[in-house]
Amino acid sequence: MKFCSECGSHLRQAIPKGDNRLRHICTHCEIVHYQNPKIVAGTLPVFDGKILLCKRAIEPRLGYWTLPAGFMENQETTTEAALRETLEEAEAKVELEGLYTVMNVPQIDQVHIFFRARLINGHFGAGDETLETKLFALEDIPWDHISFPTVFQTLKHYIADHQLNDFPVHVKDIVRKKA
Ligand code: ZN
Repeated sequence: MKFCSECGSHLRQAIPKGDNRLRHICTHCEIVHYQNPKIVAGTLPVFDGKILLCKRAIEPRLGYWTLPAGFMENQETTTEAALRETLEEAEAKVELEGLYTVMNVPQIDQVHIFFRARLINGHFGAGDETLETKLFALEDIPWDHISFPTVFQTLKHYIADHQLNDFPVHVKDIVRKKA
């Protein structure tokens, strides 16, 4: 961030009074521009015992399989965002069956939230950000071609929980090792 979104002046970095972190502060209007984590919301859609995955048509991880998910928009709720992303990416209408995973990804300042969902009528397609959408039996999940660690972990939890037919909420931190 270089310029103030309020007045267009240059920003400087400083710790505001009463704060303890460096923030972007406008050199002209003195507004503090806070930056906070972004939330990604999505679903794990199931139909006939199979999981709906989307092959990504966009970077990052183009060509890899993912659960339908994306950044929340302003004025949206987490469930609205999850439903919207599922409709946009997989052209699928789903009924949410409860919060399932909350994944903190501190290195990239994101939190990923997945809801379990039931595909309503078995219909799905490929939205603009998707090359192909497909239902996978649990034993056929393409583990070597899963897009993101949060999706990988959510699928792993589902496979394990499915054995017990019990799906508690999992809160997990995805911490990448430093190179
Ligand atoms: Zn300003």
